[in-house]
Amino acid sequence: MLEQSQERLKLIYLMGAGHIGSTVIDVVLGTHPRIESMGELWKLPQAWLKGSPRSCACGASVHDCAFWTQVRKVWAELAGDDDVARHVVLTQCFEASRAGWARLLGARATGGDFAEYVRRNTALYRAIQQVGGKPFVVESSLSPRRAFVLARSPGIDLHLIHLVRDGRGVIWSHRNPAKRGARTSFEPKSTFHTTKYWVTANLQSALVFSQLRAERRLRLRYEDFATEPHAFLARLGAWIGEDLSGLLSAERTTAEAAPVRHTPGGNRVRLEKQIRVRADFGWIEHLPERERRLFWLLAGWLARGYGYGREPSAAASPGSS
Ligand SMILES: [Zn+2]
Repeated sequence: MLEQSQERLKLIYLMGAGHIGSTVIDVVLGTHPRIESMGELWKLPQAWLKGSPRSCACGASVHDCAFWTQVRKVWAELAGDDDVARHVVLTQCFEASRAGWARLLGARATGGDFAEYVRRNTALYRAIQQVGGKPFVVESSLSPRRAFVLARSPGIDLHLIHLVRDGRGVIWSHRNPAKRGARTSFEPKSTFHTTKYWVTANLQSALVFSQLRAERRLRLRYEDFATEPHAFLARLGAWIGEDLSGLLSAERTTAEAAPVRHTPGGNRVRLEKQIRVRADFGWIEHLPERERRLFWLLAGWLARGYGYGREPSAAASPGSS
């Protein structure tokens, strides 16, 4: 049995601000026969607890899906009980808000609650690995606090990706009128609000990133995935020691006969059977100059560190591929 073997669970974790293409990358990686795509896994215990009709990417609800029914059974065996409510309380304590940092960095990080959370959380990943039978799990929960917990979980072999995207692209993604029309839940955000969020999320991510050994972390850019996805995957594959070269066709689509996914959370991309990698550089054309100026004034110092310039560079423009 896997839980008795010496092999630690290999987890590829995508961390960063939202609206950075992480769900697409997660789904593409999940078409590899040795990688299980989990999307925003942090949403799962909440769905278990509330009995909410959250849909799994396989088409069933999380409650009816055979994969998750089996995972819950194995999780309860490994964790020692089926106390989902306790798991959700611990998740909220350490991950749900910025207040979690005080608990993570303070005395409680080494105390009983933290140790219990690590044990229950590791059991969840173990159960997923045992039921799915794949050595790698990829997750795009994005939260740096969750990454901090995972980095301190002895049973998990964490491969941490800090995924960054030009903040102006993130701002545009939060305002895009096309999305406003397509999603009832979509709420446009102001440039100031998104810039503050972008800086905070990236600084928190950088903190966790800096604490990992160099071979366990990788910083990647959305723009490189969007313009040169094959090169992006080659780099990622070399890092994790798996051949990812066949995951996308020359037309940048995933295979039609991709394995069934059981992603419990993430944007709508996870529900699509076959996906195509698209390059979204709409901000270059549509984001007003005053918004760009505000972003650069507040966050240019950080954006520059990730290789972005005040003006859109050739490397990050749609015509460069
Ligand atoms: Zn399912």
